[in-house]
Amino acid sequence: MQDTYELRKEIIETCLWMRSEGLVYGTWGNISVRLDEGNYLITPSKVDYAVMQPEDLVVLAPDGTQVRGTRLSTSERELHRGILNKRPDVNAIIHTHSPYAMAAAARNTGVPVISEEMCQLLGGPIPLSHHFVPSQDHVELGRVVTASVTNVNAILIRNHGPVSFGRSLTEAKVCAQIVEKSCRIYLTLLASGGMQTISEPYVSAGRDYFLNGYGKT
Ligand SMILES: [Zn+2]
Repeated sequence: MQDTYELRKEIIETCLWMRSEGLVYGTWGNISVRLDEGNYLITPSKVDYAVMQPEDLVVLAPDGTQVRGTRLSTSERELHRGILNKRPDVNAIIHTHSPYAMAAAARNTGVPVISEEMCQLLGGPIPLSHHFVPSQDHVELGRVVTASVTNVNAILIRNHGPVSFGRSLTEAKVCAQIVEKSCRIYLTLLASGGMQTISEPYVSAGRDYFLNGYGKT
């Protein structure tokens, strides 16, 4: 993606969408995208989405150096930077504080694959970050979350909230919705006393179908 006015507007509109969808209250969510130039475009810290302007967004280099912008980038920049550095297949990241995913993040497990949607959009079970890190410890939080990321397109930050990824901002938005929906279903299933999960060969086949065969058969 090119760092254009339109892309910056799309990111701000996605911030507003997160709030209208109930995935975020206040400014407790943030977004980043990978630019074709190799740097990362990321939302600023503590700017209300309703008044955020395209010029408020910040560009960071992969090493964390601020390349463009006068605002401070989101305090959760290190987890965005770490994931974009670790996963070259990921071009957009959405971090929310959505309620069912936050509930699932307060358990001591991730979320097993319980639906076709999870196979195809996420590509496997949603992992949970290895241990709790207070969010004010930005660098350590980013390090632990990045180390816990798998090849799946989401992660639950322990006692904090979900991060969803995609090849595009549009795909990351759908993943954010699927993560919240999957966590809601998972918690409902736990309360019901049991569930049947989808075994690995079917998970991989579903993901491969989504990436390579979807719309062709
Ligand atoms: Zn957060």
